[in-house]
Amino acid sequence: MVAVPFVDLHAQYLSIKTEIDEAIARVIATSSFVRGPDVESFEAEYSRLMGAEHTVSCANGTDAIYIAMKALGIKPGDEVITTAQTWISTSETIGQHGAKPIFVDIDPVTSTIDVSKIEEKITSRTVGIIPVHLYGQMADMPAIMAIAERRGLWVIEDCAQAHLAAIDGRKAGSFGNIATWSFYPGKNLGAMGDAGAITTDDAALARHMACFARHGGLVKGDHEMEGINSRLDGLQAAILNVKLPRLAGWTARRRAIAKRYDGLLSGIAGVALPTEVAGREHVYHLYVIEADDRDGLAAALKDRGVPTVVNYKRALPFLPCYAHLGHRPEDFPVAHRLQDRILSLPIFAELTEAQQDHVAASVREAAA
Ligand SMILES: *Cc1c(COP(=O)(O)O)cnc(C)c1O
Repeated sequence: MVAVPFVDLHAQYLSIKTEIDEAIARVIATSSFVRGPDVESFEAEYSRLMGAEHTVSCANGTDAIYIAMKALGIKPGDEVITTAQTWISTSETIGQHGAKPIFVDIDPVTSTIDVSKIEEKITSRTVGIIPVHLYGQMADMPAIMAIAERRGLWVIEDCAQAHLAAIDGRKAGSFGNIATWSFYPGKNLGAMGDAGAITTDDAALARHMACFARHGGLVKGDHEMEGINSRLDGLQAAILNVKLPRLAGWTARRRAIAKRYDGLLSGIAGVALPTEVAGREHVYHLYVIEADDRDGLAAALKDRGVPTVVNYKRALPFLPCYAHLGHRPEDFPVAHRLQDRILSLPIFAELTEAQQDHVAASVREAAA
């Protein structure tokens, strides 16, 4: 049987081993462990690749969201609108500021925030919107920006799963006031540990965020404000610098693999495939199918050596940590329905055709 991991981080390492090993050795030889030249060059290159004026690196993608909201002036009692279906980072950081996450149900086609349901959730306490480009496909940013501009709200794009995704050629992260990025190892651009970044075209916001993330000052000892310690380390920056020039190629591979899955998996009763909306460049951080008997399918795939993941087991409004908000299934019918149907199949740039054939044949057999 062909072995198929869900994500093969080691295969990616082997494909760039010499350069990675040299980069790590160089950081160790120069002891540039926190910030340093690799961090500086990563910030410059990342800005260039994403088409942003400024990149502020930080310790992880969760801190990135926390820092971005802080710079936008969030305060206790504020309300922030976000999607019902995302990783907990998007909403827990709202709570960390003493603000309240206001969840909006998802669009059944893209699983991103349903823009037709945003305005009914805006109150006098609403300060901003955090859309998430879930699974690698962008939320409807033109519509979200139109609402935000009309209602005077800021927008933070959570781009943790969407490096190089686009709408009509315009890149993820280029719409909102600020965009946040994760380089968690399994993300489309992954470090070898935790790492994150924030991008913006606003120089004042960028400076504020850089200060806040570095104990409130850009020069050691000059604390302009109280901050936090959330820095990118030299080893992670050096690793990311090796990987950054490959991101476009890896993204093209993910897209090609997804197209191939679309063909191999078409027409299976009880299984629906992901939809790439016209004009949206989906970067397939995850390839998420829907299945009538999701748990049965996952178990049958496991027996055939095919690992799957549910991203995510429960939509945020229904998690124990938000029980106090009193949300009911009928408040978020799409997110509620999908949480028992979604299943993520293995997808990563190094997935071989033989591995993919095994996954697809197993889905076909298991669903029969
Ligand atoms: C991974 C992820 C984050 C958080 O990133 P970390 O680097 O793990 O802190 C935030 N939002 C979404 C949607 C993510 O997938």
